[in-house]
Amino acid sequence: MDDKIVELIMGELKKRLGEGEVEEVKTTIPVELSAKHVHLSEEDSIALFGGPLTYKRELSQPGQYLCDQRVRLIGPKGVVDNVAVLGPARSESQVEISISDSRALGLKTPIRQSGDIDGTPGIVLASSTGIVGLEQGVIVASRHIHMSPADAERLNVKDKDMVCVSMTGTRPVVFRDVLVRVSSDFNLAMHIDFDEGNGSGWTPASECTIVKQPREEFRGA
Ligand SMILES: [Zn+2]
Repeated sequence: MDDKIVELIMGELKKRLGEGEVEEVKTTIPVELSAKHVHLSEEDSIALFGGPLTYKRELSQPGQYLCDQRVRLIGPKGVVDNVAVLGPARSESQVEISISDSRALGLKTPIRQSGDIDGTPGIVLASSTGIVGLEQGVIVASRHIHMSPADAERLNVKDKDMVCVSMTGTRPVVFRDVLVRVSSDFNLAMHIDFDEGNGSGWTPASECTIVKQPREEFRGA
């Protein structure tokens, strides 16, 4: 190989290695769209599909996966078909939809953190082989950021903080009341639903930045 080319390549490599030594302080957070989905209890999964859920593909948060199964949501005013089922099974079934889905179904659905389903509306779930009526469990998920304890320290926030974030996109927005969720099981990502994504011109390249540190007035909202 030509000596000059070798020199050029070595120079470039050295530059890159040098850059790698300085730990970059990254403050941007990737934003992912969370489509409507259902978490099922083992009992409800058996009632709907005659057996446990089966794995189709991994999702961005460790341990969470998309299942082969799909369900129909039946509300008082309409139905929503082909809704994804996420695994693993949970102790209680939960349905996460957007405000648009909620309107189409004819429900009044509160905005809640995942798992907080007391007093939420019920719904009927159907598959080609079974049907299940849930007494409660329908929520519009609070927009939230998943992060590890190390990310939380770097970004100067703690679990359950409510923060404001600025998001890039074709219609850039600032979201307020964004819930911070910290766990060593989490990868850094903000989750918004389809209504929020479509309204703000989200693209797969969208990123957000925390623009306001938590204040008392946001906490526990
Ligand atoms: Zn999430």
